[in-house]
Amino acid sequence: MVRPTASRPLGAAMLEARDRRYGSERGSGGASQAAAAPQMLQVRPGVYLGGAAAVAEPQQLKEAGITAVLTVDSEEPAFKTGAHGEGMRCLFVAALDKPETDLLSHLDRCVAFIGQARAQGRSVLVHCHSGISRSVAVVTAFLMKTDQLTFEKAYADLQTVKPEAKMNEGFEWQLKLYQAMGYEVDTSSAIYKQYRLQKVTEKYPELQSLPQELFAVDPTTISQGSKDEVLYKCRKCRRSLFRSSSILDHNEGIGPIAFAHKRTTPSFILTTGSQAQCTSYFIEPVQWMESTLLGVMDGQLLCPKCTAKLGSFNWYGEQCSCGRWITPAFQIHKNRVDEMKMLPVLGSQTRKI
Ligand SMILES: [Zn+2]
Ligand SMILES: [Zn+2]
Repeated sequence: MVRPTASRPLGAAMLEARDRRYGSERGSGGASQAAAAPQMLQVRPGVYLGGAAAVAEPQQLKEAGITAVLTVDSEEPAFKTGAHGEGMRCLFVAALDKPETDLLSHLDRCVAFIGQARAQGRSVLVHCHSGISRSVAVVTAFLMKTDQLTFEKAYADLQTVKPEAKMNEGFEWQLKLYQAMGYEVDTSSAIYKQYRLQKVTEKYPELQSLPQELFAVDPTTISQGSKDEVLYKCRKCRRSLFRSSSILDHNEGIGPIAFAHKRTTPSFILTTGSQAQCTSYFIEPVQWMESTLLGVMDGQLLCPKCTAKLGSFNWYGEQCSCGRWITPAFQIHKNRVDEMKMLPVLGSQTRKI
């Protein structure tokens, strides 16, 4: 709860009274904010940006005609059950303002919420605690998608309206990935898979187990593959190892890159060009690797059938022969596997290409 202080705009006295009435029930929300700044700003017609103070004042929401509120904060505001009347639409996304917070996975539903509310003629407030980082990142994503803007352009636009807007560097990186995916989070894309792996890596030493969804299904357990897919088999014993959909392409290297959230540009953008210099495939982990990967930072990847050496892995990353660092890295040497084209009619049968 942020109490109104000096130099408040219109209606401060009335709000003061209201706050006294509700304040004790709603608990304290930490340090008071600078009251000189307006508590919410309109960044596009009907789209407002603000901090916790903005939702603490029902009258202000009412005056602005706001009937939809998107909260991106560590705690859901208590106002939902409060004095805002019927018909208020709310979406709460739990997120801390930290570079390692995964905001990307929530962007689609945030952007959809704002878009749907606008389509219904509602005015929307997007807010976090101080209106500087989390809410700024979400509104930037909305501007990017709605106006088909680059991250830099959308962010610069927003900062002209709100100069103190400053999202953390992890969110900047996530919005660049959002742009690279075409303003829609495609969980089957190499970009998203690599992002997920990096998120796991940030927590890796403390992990007791790896999330199952991180692993691609072992190609020996399913016979169906899409018809354009290529299957990769152990050159020595022919055991199926992974599919082409598990390959995480990267641009040819430009030297070492630090850990994910410290970076200023995405290091992996889907490429269609040849990667002639690369002597390895970097792939997502496959189920047969699971027992090898847990509890150690790096090691060899061996064929699960004949134990031929196929490549290596390192949670801290490895450098490709082209110079690019990949973090984390699950690397299979191209000369240890054969490519087999999937024959759709015959299911699991394959033909060497
Ligand atoms: Zn083998
Ligand atoms: Zn490479």
